[in-house]
Amino acid sequence: MSVYDEEFFKLVSLLGDRPVEFPTLRPAHVAQWILESDRGLSDLARRFHNFGGMKYRSELAGIALPIAYEAHDGLDTYCAFPDNAAFLEGYFRFLDRSPYRGWRDHAASPEAFLSFIGPIWAGDPAYVTKVLGLLPEASDLLKNATTAGVDDAAPDPTPSVPGRPYIRLDGAQAVATGFDGLKISYKGDAGCPYGIVATQGRRPFTGIILHHTQPGKSAAWYVRYQIDGDSDRGGHFGYHFYIGEDGTVLQGAPLDKRTNHISSKADIRRSIGSHLRNSNAIGVSFVGAGFPSGSKPTPFQEAAAEVLVYALADHYEIPFDSVFGHGEIQRNRMASEGRDVAQRIRSW
Ligand SMILES: [Zn+2]
Repeated sequence: MSVYDEEFFKLVSLLGDRPVEFPTLRPAHVAQWILESDRGLSDLARRFHNFGGMKYRSELAGIALPIAYEAHDGLDTYCAFPDNAAFLEGYFRFLDRSPYRGWRDHAASPEAFLSFIGPIWAGDPAYVTKVLGLLPEASDLLKNATTAGVDDAAPDPTPSVPGRPYIRLDGAQAVATGFDGLKISYKGDAGCPYGIVATQGRRPFTGIILHHTQPGKSAAWYVRYQIDGDSDRGGHFGYHFYIGEDGTVLQGAPLDKRTNHISSKADIRRSIGSHLRNSNAIGVSFVGAGFPSGSKPTPFQEAAAEVLVYALADHYEIPFDSVFGHGEIQRNRMASEGRDVAQRIRSW
């Protein structure tokens, strides 16, 4: 039995829980990290969440910080990540750099992938053989990670896409419960009218809009604000879902109601997403991400949003290309509001 750092298990389950472009490659990634980080025990992994032994490159700006570090092959500048989610994002961005161009043409199997990237990733001629030998261990880890923590009392989970996050609604089609890597706390109030006109004219959900709120107030505060209503603005304003800075997902409004979160005024709407209204769009907000310099969700928020949007889109059969940032569809919002994550989701 090998010895692992506790954080390594968390990283593996994060990879197992989150939607990725090539799910069959998950064991290849984990096998690489087992070798590179010595099962999470390396100094780079423990101090900087760098499980890939990745040197810093400019494409990683905004995800990782450059740190000078003395590794076995000498002093160099390595990536320091704030957390596991940032490492995951950084790892995939690292692969999208020019030295690995074409790796998607080698994504049919872990073996094909590793044989292609291995010789570029490391100078060691035995690198590919070593990582290939770790694939069975990596697969076992992934299996254990994704079945851990499943509540036996929970209803029989039958996701429409096996192994992916999904939601179930209660009988009133109002309260969502998340499964397989998605946790949702319901904070809505059936007595609140929410968006009165939008709810009266409600249509099936056909899109999802990503928002941010200003820094300084908690998700719970915004949920309260929406339920209490704003007498100055004349109504109830807010979203169906609020994602806290630590990735916690709150459901602030029942899904049988509609909420006031976008404008339908033609003069401020753009052509992109023009089919969406409060009556047919789910609002998801990154709490506190609306900095004056632009919308900057934390890595936890981005990861949680991807999981939540995946599950909502799957449940309501909303196409991924009907997911937008508020700043993309409306002229009077900061252009960056919700944009980056929405663009990533549209490319799924
Ligand atoms: Zn907004």
